[in-house]
Amino acid sequence: MLILGALLLLFSTAFAAQGALEISLPKSLYATKYDLTVNVFLPPVGAQIPDEDAFRQKASVLIDFTVKEPTRLIVLNADGITVKQNFLWNGRSNYSNLPVVEVKSVQKLYFEVPYILAVGETLQFYIEYTYKIRSVDDEALGLYRSTWVDENKVTHHIASTQFKTIHARKVVPCLDDPTFRSVWSLTVHAPKGYRVDANTQEYQTTNNAQTHRFFKTPSIPSYLLAFAVHDQAYIRTVSPGGFKNGFIGPHEKLRNCTAWFAFTGQMIDTLVDKFKVVKLPFDKMDFIHIGRMYKGAMENPGLITLEPSKFCNYDNQIVLSELIVTHEMLHQWFGNSVTPNGWENIIMSEGLVTYYQIRLLLKRNPNLTLLTTPSMVIALPSNTSIYTQPTSINEVMNVGNDAQYFKSAAIFHMMERMMGPAKRLYNVQRVSENI
Ligand SMILES: [Zn+2]
Repeated sequence: MLILGALLLLFSTAFAAQGALEISLPKSLYATKYDLTVNVFLPPVGAQIPDEDAFRQKASVLIDFTVKEPTRLIVLNADGITVKQNFLWNGRSNYSNLPVVEVKSVQKLYFEVPYILAVGETLQFYIEYTYKIRSVDDEALGLYRSTWVDENKVTHHIASTQFKTIHARKVVPCLDDPTFRSVWSLTVHAPKGYRVDANTQEYQTTNNAQTHRFFKTPSIPSYLLAFAVHDQAYIRTVSPGGFKNGFIGPHEKLRNCTAWFAFTGQMIDTLVDKFKVVKLPFDKMDFIHIGRMYKGAMENPGLITLEPSKFCNYDNQIVLSELIVTHEMLHQWFGNSVTPNGWENIIMSEGLVTYYQIRLLLKRNPNLTLLTTPSMVIALPSNTSIYTQPTSINEVMNVGNDAQYFKSAAIFHMMERMMGPAKRLYNVQRVSENI
């Protein structure tokens, strides 16, 4: 307990208040794979929400690590996680219940290994724990529940994830930082009558249709892991170019969405063709209606989540519905396939996505001005910097805003104008030649 004792002493001082400690992780371990199993509880359709205690649920994770630097500590992000037991296997010996210290101020768990881990060593680390399915009033982060009401005024429940920026740690202890990319295998135990969707397709349902297993993901950062437990309707379709996509939402919404489905299929084909230099690593793209979301929509690969006002809303906001699909699909390349290695570089995902979304939508409709150029003009004089280095958990949670998006998009636009058909502006020019 010597190391953990010293650590506690360290954090009992003002040292813990320093930003770098809050948001950085040691580079001594790299997680190549997570095998995550979560129990998800939701009340039956039409039922009232029971006591909050019902939403504290069991889960477990098996993490494959490679050791990059000698260390005696396994450091993982966690927020609201209670560790029940843990188990380390290094291929020769196993160790049960490593001593663990949680430092809540920096949202980290420190497990002490009884020997110095050597560079190149591979480990399997298993943790059994509980986590909380949050209420939508808790800012709709982590795994949280929301509701929707059908045409017969019956209330339905949804549990869905919002892990961007640093909320995967509310459901699974992990290296919750975009520097790390890992393969994820997911198993969800959900109540009878509910379906589960995730980044990848489900390959097995057992246990009286309550255990759902999903194909492993390509390598992704933790903030892009996504799943939803719900009882909504499905429409499975294939884009004209042959890409599988699905729409998941209330029956009455899906009935009137033909135009949106057609637009989405065409946009997927356009982007898959234009950005073919980087092949989309997912073989399906579902769009799911969620009762409420933190920021309206989220670009999770394979499972794009949208709040009701963004999901097939052609009544009042024809431009917005198409813009959201374009924006979230562009993220499949900018942010998902290529991920900035720190939240300070968010302009390289949100800025480029905004730049291309304007290009694509203007090409489709040259008269379009709403949400495009005027927003740029409004953003430019603001004093918001396009580059902000977050120094605390709170700042990482709030990274990125519209002014930053449009201001950085305007800069990419100006760079391209100034340099003409340049060969030097590698990233922007190479791709934009195709659009
Ligand atoms: Zn975005």
